[in-house]
Amino acid sequence: MLSYDVVEWGKPLQKAEKATPKPTGTEVLLKLKYCGVCHSDVHIRDGYFDLGGGKRFNMSDRGMNPPVTLGHEPFGTVIAAGPDAKDVPIGQDRLVCPWIGCGKCARCREGMDNHCMAPRWIGIQRPGGYADHLLVPDAKYLVDASGIDPMWAATLSCSGLTTYSAVAQLKPIPRDEWVAVFGAGGLGLMAIEMLKAIGHQRIVVIDIDDRKLEVAKKEGAAATVNGRDPDAAKKLLEAAGGPLYGAVDLVGAADTATLALGALRKGGKLIVVGLYGGEIPVSLVMVVQRAWRIQGSSVGNVAELKEVIAMARAGKIKPIPIEKRPLAEVSRTLDQLKAGSILGRVVAAID
Ligand SMILES: [Zn+2]
Ligand SMILES: [Zn+2]
Repeated sequence: MLSYDVVEWGKPLQKAEKATPKPTGTEVLLKLKYCGVCHSDVHIRDGYFDLGGGKRFNMSDRGMNPPVTLGHEPFGTVIAAGPDAKDVPIGQDRLVCPWIGCGKCARCREGMDNHCMAPRWIGIQRPGGYADHLLVPDAKYLVDASGIDPMWAATLSCSGLTTYSAVAQLKPIPRDEWVAVFGAGGLGLMAIEMLKAIGHQRIVVIDIDDRKLEVAKKEGAAATVNGRDPDAAKKLLEAAGGPLYGAVDLVGAADTATLALGALRKGGKLIVVGLYGGEIPVSLVMVVQRAWRIQGSSVGNVAELKEVIAMARAGKIKPIPIEKRPLAEVSRTLDQLKAGSILGRVVAAID
């Protein structure tokens, strides 16, 4: 089989030929057709996330040691299975839910693989989809995405699922109250789609780029605020007619989280999703007196991915612009993602 691997952190991916794995136990083998090229792979290729205060979260501390194959948005045809695999759709195309846990702990048993403390995430701890073949630990992580563009389906397994799961944690959202979305990039637009899909319209979007805010308005944001405005905090409250019910921070920076918390009503909820990095001081008295709920949201689980695909199939969420490129260009694509020069999403096509 062929793959494009990180051989040294921060360096371009290198093409590798290796033996095609044979599925054992409950494993299934897919011949891949597509893999989305996600922005988080830029950080993973660098080998770390910035935690703020000069601290780093190193991928090597997560059990990743090069050579590693990235790519966590794979889609392909199921071609083989181990002797213990059940309900294997041999010969059929499937989307892979990459957020796979140990399969044994209490979280995994309740289907919350994304909260497992011993993750086996595809393209992180396990070899990923920048390859022509992929082993998946169990057929239960395969999702039928028939009826929608397979390239779009691939992108839904990370950004679609992550925003869906984050928005779900605000539910039930009172219809007459406001939700702020911080960040109007790809994830931000997806979050607007998810909020609209569950019938919510009072959405205010905050970004530091007016062009992105224009796009967010077209997407359905009822109000927008430029976060660089010195009066941003006041304008946010004005836009919502008072303190907000909730906020989804898709940036995850000190500035955005501070602005979001300050705008929440009593009992309001902040969902932090973005991994920009940093830290903020939080007054414990304010946490109590304002009854703030501050919660992180990390990707999502396979049941939620099935719900996202069902919403896509039903036309409740719209496709985003997708550019198809050969897998051989994946390293160049990551360079362009890092430089911020890609509009919409890129999906690698695998022969
Ligand atoms: Zn991703
Ligand atoms: Zn587990």
